[in-house]
Amino acid sequence: MFRQVASLTLLLLIGALFGYIVGSNSVYGSCAGLFVVSLAWTIFDQYQIKNILKWLQQEELENRPSKVGVYVSIVERVVRVVRAQRRINLESVNRLNAFLSAIQASPNGVLLLDSESRIDWCNQTAAQQLGIDMQKDEKQLIANLVRDPMFSNYLKLLGAQEEIVIHARDSKPELPRRISVQLFPYGDGRRLLLSRDITQIEQAEVMRRDFVANVSHEIRTPLTVLSGFVETLLTLPVSEQERRGYLELMSVQATRMQTLVNDLLTLSKLEGSPIPGKSEWTPISVLWKQCNQEALSLSQLLYPHTVQNIQFNCDGLEEVGLEVAGSRNELFSAMTNLVSNAVRYTPEDGSIYVSLILLSSGELEFKVEDTGAGIAREHIPRLTERFYRVDRSRSRDSGGTGLGLAIVKHVAQRHDARLSISSQVGKGSSFAIRFPVHRIRKVEVEVLVP
Ligand code: ADP
Repeated sequence: MFRQVASLTLLLLIGALFGYIVGSNSVYGSCAGLFVVSLAWTIFDQYQIKNILKWLQQEELENRPSKVGVYVSIVERVVRVVRAQRRINLESVNRLNAFLSAIQASPNGVLLLDSESRIDWCNQTAAQQLGIDMQKDEKQLIANLVRDPMFSNYLKLLGAQEEIVIHARDSKPELPRRISVQLFPYGDGRRLLLSRDITQIEQAEVMRRDFVANVSHEIRTPLTVLSGFVETLLTLPVSEQERRGYLELMSVQATRMQTLVNDLLTLSKLEGSPIPGKSEWTPISVLWKQCNQEALSLSQLLYPHTVQNIQFNCDGLEEVGLEVAGSRNELFSAMTNLVSNAVRYTPEDGSIYVSLILLSSGELEFKVEDTGAGIAREHIPRLTERFYRVDRSRSRDSGGTGLGLAIVKHVAQRHDARLSISSQVGKGSSFAIRFPVHRIRKVEVEVLVP
């Protein structure tokens, strides 16, 4: 400031002196000199201000203007303020982007509506569930895009509301998808819409209800028979022979309930216990022997007057000390379920072929083939569902619970094994469990020399 005043004063003095000399020592000459200096100073000042204004009008304020004279400190200050503002803006943008990315990552749909229920923003999940394309649907009325009448009515309600359930936009009759939608008011009449895919939850609930209904049904039948016989024995005079007959029938029903409860417990254990690791190794020979015994004794029990043709072939694996990693009880349960099914669903004059083969890939395959009635193609994908039966009466009559293959599938999954089923109506069926290489090992077998 002082420098500016001093420079101006000096220039005025020079101008006055110069005018005085040029004007032959007259006062008018001094005045003219003063006038010229003042005019030049003003023009130069205006030029500097114009430079600054031109610079301020630019978007980028990086290239500072030269020739700003005494205004350099103003330019410096503007640059500092702009830089600080830019830093703040960048931080805000980064924070907003991080926030939006977090909402994008949410498995639930998030949609923002303005006070007129027009779409302001939504994440990808909401876009997918509600069929919104943010490129062209921004600021569109949501009611024009989500046309479910229930949703339209819900939209008219103001204030916080309970959630409603509607069909997702990509729901198809063969693959229904349901979403729950809830609106939350905020700000100046704005609303936040949250959506959640509840298809799986609903399916699980249906499965749970079906399961309870199935179990109740399975238990009720033998229970009704049992209580009927108990009633008869208590109220009617019956002969010793009749009493014995009733008790035998009661015993059959009690066994049926017992088998059902055992299978249910097996399933619940399979679902609730940790996956069998590699700490337990079961010799194949043990499983193989137990499995053979089960098949033969069940066959004898079901067909006491004939001998079913059951062949076993393990390719000598019994003797090579092969072991499977996993739970012995579970593996036994899976193998015997397959063998018992073959016995139960194959007529007495049919044949059953049980084999255990070490494949060239190193996998171990346990296979049960039969020449029974076979299963129609449409039933095969559903066989491992709980209580799914193709031949209901044959299953019941032979002591089936409808849970056998569900158990087999669970056990296979828990041992990284694959269950494959193939069948032809009238020809027979084939069930195979294939264990992966990492669950198989060979151990040295001690041979006792006599
Ligand atoms: P179940 O206790 O009724 O045998 P599973 O879960 O073991 O229950 O089997 C489901 C259904 O699959 C059975 O009810 C039966 O209809 C069919 N099934 C299973 N194994 C065979 C087979 N070897 N031959 C023909 N049908 C079979």
